[in-house]
Amino acid sequence: MWGVLRDYFGEEVAVLHSYLSPGERADAWRKIRKGEVNLVLGARSAVFAPVNNLGLIIVDEEHDGSYKQGSSPYYNARDMAITRGKFENALVILGSATPAIESFYNAIQGKFKLIEMLERVPGAKLPSVEVIDLRKLRYRERIFSPLAKSSILKRIEMNEQSILLLNRRGFSTSLICPDCGYVPRCPHCEVTLTYHRVGDELKCHWCDYETPAPDNCPNCNSDDFKHRGKGTQKIEVQLYDFVEPERVLRIDSDAIGRKGSLNKILTKFASNPGSILVGTQMVAKGHDFPDVTLVVVIDADVGMALPDFRAGEKTLQLLSQVAGRAGRGERPGLVIIQTRHPDEPAVQFAVNHDYRAFFRHTLARRQILQYPPYSRLVRILAQSEDSHRAEKSLRTILRALLKENIPDVKPLSPTKPPLAKLKGEYRWHLLIKSGDIRKLLPFLNRIAQARFKNVKLRVDVDPYDMM
Ligand SMILES: [Zn+2]
Ligand SMILES: [Zn+2]
Repeated sequence: MWGVLRDYFGEEVAVLHSYLSPGERADAWRKIRKGEVNLVLGARSAVFAPVNNLGLIIVDEEHDGSYKQGSSPYYNARDMAITRGKFENALVILGSATPAIESFYNAIQGKFKLIEMLERVPGAKLPSVEVIDLRKLRYRERIFSPLAKSSILKRIEMNEQSILLLNRRGFSTSLICPDCGYVPRCPHCEVTLTYHRVGDELKCHWCDYETPAPDNCPNCNSDDFKHRGKGTQKIEVQLYDFVEPERVLRIDSDAIGRKGSLNKILTKFASNPGSILVGTQMVAKGHDFPDVTLVVVIDADVGMALPDFRAGEKTLQLLSQVAGRAGRGERPGLVIIQTRHPDEPAVQFAVNHDYRAFFRHTLARRQILQYPPYSRLVRILAQSEDSHRAEKSLRTILRALLKENIPDVKPLSPTKPPLAKLKGEYRWHLLIKSGDIRKLLPFLNRIAQARFKNVKLRVDVDPYDMM
């Protein structure tokens, strides 16, 4: 990106990113303020760059969750760009092949102007996509379907490369029927229920709904229902059945933990013909490997089973991103998506690229339960070494909220989020749907300043992370 812009605009570009030293950052800001550059390129916080006479803000990949800052202040750089554009009378362009539902809704409503690029960039080829219905396969073929296996072997033979996507498994505590793909959902929130071995119960992590876990699948009566899905290790064992371990490179949480090791793995992958890269959604991000001609999504259902009303939208974004890794060079690419829900709109999008169909379907679902864009969502997260204190603080807040009688406000009950404990602290959250956020903001401002003993509170308006 930097290289392309420099070719066009020469030295008149300032780059802002998190690797700058404080001195370099100060230099860049000074240059920008003095008007010595005409163009600022940067990640999230670049939206605050001290540009005088601002004319245009382009938000590329506007749907990307990384525009939302995960720590205080909780802002979304896309929304900030729109606000800043309004204040400074600048044009704002949001670009995406898979727009956020909220953004596309705004465009359809006429709040934004919709410009559709109906033709692809010349020369850009789409990979072919095969959807494998795991329900139709025998048990031992459900990790590597016959097509996936033969395709991987063929790539090795041709000295081409493969990427295998394992969706993040850390939170895969939902029950998924291995035979029909049924996932139990909360009748009130529609998000997936989480299975608790202790007590053998299914619980909603959004409201406090709970119900005994059925022994058999309520949909197909399978008695394999409670057998947990495939672990990462099992996948590796099966992969080594037909591939030499030396060919396999892994990106996992260990790999990102060590500084620079992610780049080392990617460099090694790039220089090893016939190798295979296995990893979570990190493998999907923007790397350009011309020799990758095969992408296998081992289990597309894991992401869709996360307790998050955006699960479908995030799955669609992940699938189209990872599909884009296949066939970036001269040779055509193949994408294999393994799922028990071949009709799921997110999977269908990967095949037919019909975003509007996905949008209509998702919007209808959200309207029923008044999720964004039909409401604004607020998440109040309480963290404490004492679980009881965290819970109590939210109950106090909920009581105070109900007493205020603010119109158009629907709070759920305080409950534990999927990530119920982090770094020694217990977590509780309270979700509030609001039809008119302006009426709720004064209350939220007071809460953000309230002090509860030994409890850390976070008030997040329009949260993206629901874990
Ligand atoms: Zn619920
Ligand atoms: Zn079933």
